[in-house]
Amino acid sequence: MAVKTELTSDGILVATMDLPGRPMNVLADALVMGLAALPAKLADPAVKGMILTGGKADFCAGADLDRLVTWTKPEEPFEGSMALKRVLRALESQGKPVVAALNGHALGGGFEIALACHARIAIDDPKLKIGQPEVKLGLLPGGGGTQRLLRLVGVQQAMQICAEGNDIPVAKAKSMGLLADLAKDRDELMAKARAWIAANPKAAQPWDQPKFKIPGGDSRSPAVVQMLAIGPSIASAKSYGNYPAVQHIMSCIFEGGLLDFDTACVVESRYFAACVMSAEAKNMIHTLWFQLNAIKKGASRPAGVPRAKVGKLGILGAGMMGGGIAYVSAKAGIDVVLLDTTQEAAERGKAYSQGLLDKAVKKGRSTAEKRDALLARIKATTSYDDLAGCDLVIEAVFEDRAIKADVTKKAEAVLAADRVFASNTSTLPITGLAQASARPANFIGLHFFSPVDKMPLVEIIVGKETSDETLARAFDYVLQIGKTPIVVNDSRGFYTSRVFATYVMEGIAMLKEGVHPRSIEVAGLQAGMPMPPLALQDEVSLSLSVHVAEQTKKDLAAEGKTLPEHPGYAVIRHLVEIGRIGKKAGKGFYDYTDAGKTLWPELTKLYPTAAEQPAQRELIDRLMFAQANEAARCHEEKVLRSAADGNIGSIFGWGFAPFHGGALRFIDSMGAKAFVARARELAAKYGPRFEPAVVVVKMAETGGRFGDN
Ligand code: NAD
Repeated sequence: MAVKTELTSDGILVATMDLPGRPMNVLADALVMGLAALPAKLADPAVKGMILTGGKADFCAGADLDRLVTWTKPEEPFEGSMALKRVLRALESQGKPVVAALNGHALGGGFEIALACHARIAIDDPKLKIGQPEVKLGLLPGGGGTQRLLRLVGVQQAMQICAEGNDIPVAKAKSMGLLADLAKDRDELMAKARAWIAANPKAAQPWDQPKFKIPGGDSRSPAVVQMLAIGPSIASAKSYGNYPAVQHIMSCIFEGGLLDFDTACVVESRYFAACVMSAEAKNMIHTLWFQLNAIKKGASRPAGVPRAKVGKLGILGAGMMGGGIAYVSAKAGIDVVLLDTTQEAAERGKAYSQGLLDKAVKKGRSTAEKRDALLARIKATTSYDDLAGCDLVIEAVFEDRAIKADVTKKAEAVLAADRVFASNTSTLPITGLAQASARPANFIGLHFFSPVDKMPLVEIIVGKETSDETLARAFDYVLQIGKTPIVVNDSRGFYTSRVFATYVMEGIAMLKEGVHPRSIEVAGLQAGMPMPPLALQDEVSLSLSVHVAEQTKKDLAAEGKTLPEHPGYAVIRHLVEIGRIGKKAGKGFYDYTDAGKTLWPELTKLYPTAAEQPAQRELIDRLMFAQANEAARCHEEKVLRSAADGNIGSIFGWGFAPFHGGALRFIDSMGAKAFVARARELAAKYGPRFEPAVVVVKMAETGGRFGDN
């Protein structure tokens, strides 16, 4: 039974949601059926009211996505959503009080159940999550959430909650009136729920009261009309229309503000169906839910190696990356030894953590005790002897083979023979670096992204000789520090840097052809990328790109190979020659001043704007096809070990437009045939870099797709 009930001696029916066979409560059929049976039980004259709570760690985590993805016709989500609404409507309109006792997370559909109760009381725990995150998967609340929120907190707040999808801290939810009260523990929660029922023997929802008015006014009121006039423009300035769920949420709330509750709920179900059927939702659910969960459960981790935890971690090089790795590791409870060439440099690396923690304490997100405990776990040193007993050592010294070889040898002299040594190199192939190691089977790449405390991804690079056990340990460590691991095979630029570069370089090539720089930058944003290409190259620094390109050329020459130069590279080289090396120098493609950045006016003199400008769609296609095609090549060359790693790596690593579901899903979503046809058109116009990867050409012939492979 998914919802168990117990009638206590004081006449209160306690209904506990506990979906069998699932770790969390989700809105599976069994749970909805259990809820549907409750109004009849409430009708018993012996029952005075009901407390609805969760029997698992959560109250209810939301929609059953396993079922949602099986819907192929819009009638199915429409009916599914209406069925849930009928159940919730019956629950709130049967006359007796129902209190939601939120013992844990109430998210999405789970929060919608709570909203259909007459009051909500939650445990006062900052980690308890409540809110409507559906928009993050391209959906909207389909259980009446948009309409109940509108009628509880007004147009503006309802739009914010549903269109932004962020969790609402319980204290804030209480001050907004979404929660009636907070309780310190489960006992107090139940006691307060009973007291609420006793004090409110006849409960009805505000929207069922005869003189009900939407707080702050309905969609006709002057204040709301003003807000509605600018809300959609603000949203589309952020999303460039790439997220239809955002528009649908706004429409739901606007239209709902003109209608009675029951009609508004039908409108919501129509928009819900439109979201479920959208390619954007399908892409996001596929990658950001199913593939992400599979990765977190260890899909890319070698099976059969027991899970291990890092107790003590050594970090060589206390610079920007070393300091960040020390912070995230100490935060996860790991003892850290942070080593540099001088005590001063090592302490500077530790001070990075101090800075972050001081800020957190100031903002009330942490306490002085927690800060001090975390700092006590980081030992700044210059002595390799301090590395004794480490389970893992990560080097983050200068990007220089000789220095890396030297520190590898010194660390291995102290490290136990079965422990792991990792390099955080961003460009040097791991197999080559492992030559300095006496134990190449224990050598691996752990490529962090900057800033380490914010970026969610770590790219694990497997060298030729890296053992499965080493990979498993590295994988476990990445999960231990709360980051998402992807696993790739060794290759120049690995996966993320290699594909990311194609985005930036394509934008720069356009400039050389005479496309106006403003059009290029806008195309990047319209494509759904977080930053435009020229601005991004300035951030990375043009001089660094020249350095890496020249090193690569030398390395390839040593192997007797050459690579054709990307047409964008000449632009970077020229700008470096004239001293425009990027943001750090205050000048690159942009000029940087205290007031902000502006495109360098001389850019259009250096690369004159062509009389005829291409359509934005053409630019967007170039930027996206360049990346997707390179990702497909990585799959073909087995740099990528799975499509899931390719998709998650692209979104978490460099912000590949999430609504496409990742660089490989981009191809799956449009179909290999369509991709090949368009890629060939682009190749004919702009060069062989657009020739579709062989693996996609084969898929186009056989009807295959990347899927999860
Ligand atoms: P950084 O210059 O900020 O720090 C390097 C640190 O290493 C310095 O504190 C330096 O004193 C120390 N160091 C140099 N030689 C040493 C030695 N022999 N023994 C001990 N310490 C030594 O550099 P960073 O940006 O932190 O990069 C470090 C590594 O991480 C590089 O390999 C880089 O390619 C890689 N990486 C950087 C980024 C990034 O965005 N900066 C991203 C991913 C990977």
